[in-house]
Amino acid sequence: MSYEKREQLYEGKAKKVYATDDPQVVIVSYKDDATAFNGLKKGTITGKGAINNRMTNNLMRRLEAKGVPTHYVEELSDRETAVKKVSIVPLEVIIRNISAGSFAKRYGVEEGIVFDQPTIEFSYKNDDLGDPLLNSYHALALKLATQDEIDLIKKYAFAVNDLLKGFMKEIGIDLVDFKLEFGKTADGTIVLADEISPDTCRLWDEKTHEKLDKDRFRRDMGGAEEAYEEVMRRLMGEQ
Ligand code: UDP
Repeated sequence: MSYEKREQLYEGKAKKVYATDDPQVVIVSYKDDATAFNGLKKGTITGKGAINNRMTNNLMRRLEAKGVPTHYVEELSDRETAVKKVSIVPLEVIIRNISAGSFAKRYGVEEGIVFDQPTIEFSYKNDDLGDPLLNSYHALALKLATQDEIDLIKKYAFAVNDLLKGFMKEIGIDLVDFKLEFGKTADGTIVLADEISPDTCRLWDEKTHEKLDKDRFRRDMGGAEEAYEEVMRRLMGEQ
């Protein structure tokens, strides 16, 4: 199956989205552009677009095989993938296994505390408001999703965590935390959408605890390109 690329529908911080000849399918094109702190910090991570595209597709295919419905349709090239057209549920769903980032800052704890159980939190996907944290009651009040949709999203998010933690452990990586987005297809089905990559996950080497993710860019640590390549190399089994 191949799709004809038509007009650009949208350009986000890290991806562009194009229409295709199939009204149910769009093409996502991954960029090397990197942003952090709600777009305040801007830069480039060379090669990131291709890595995030291929890594996301690898993980989405494996999640789908384990029963998590996703938007994935077909990888078209290094940077481009056909995905189901969805309306994105305006919630960022964050799962954490180990304290880091905004959790450590908000609650005044160090990074690296391993939780007995994963945590879940939502933020309202709204750049103008800076993606404020909210709970499921707020999401219902704002009509961002229904109760059934929220319940399903929570179930899928924890299932993704269990599976992803396993995939990462196999390649010597601790899954610290990550952000997911879900979408609704034309018939109302909730599916996992967006991406799963070092842009959206915190990934620490299990032995050295070296950061293999976007924190290298956020915190000006250097070596972001190499870190993304390292995760990709391990994931694709070229060790
Ligand atoms: N995250 C993301 N997009 C966002 C905010 C967070 O992909 O807009 C990811 C981030 O990479 C990390 C997890 O979600 O893996 C938790 O991020 P946190 O809330 O700690 O925020 P941050 O410290 O990144 O501002």
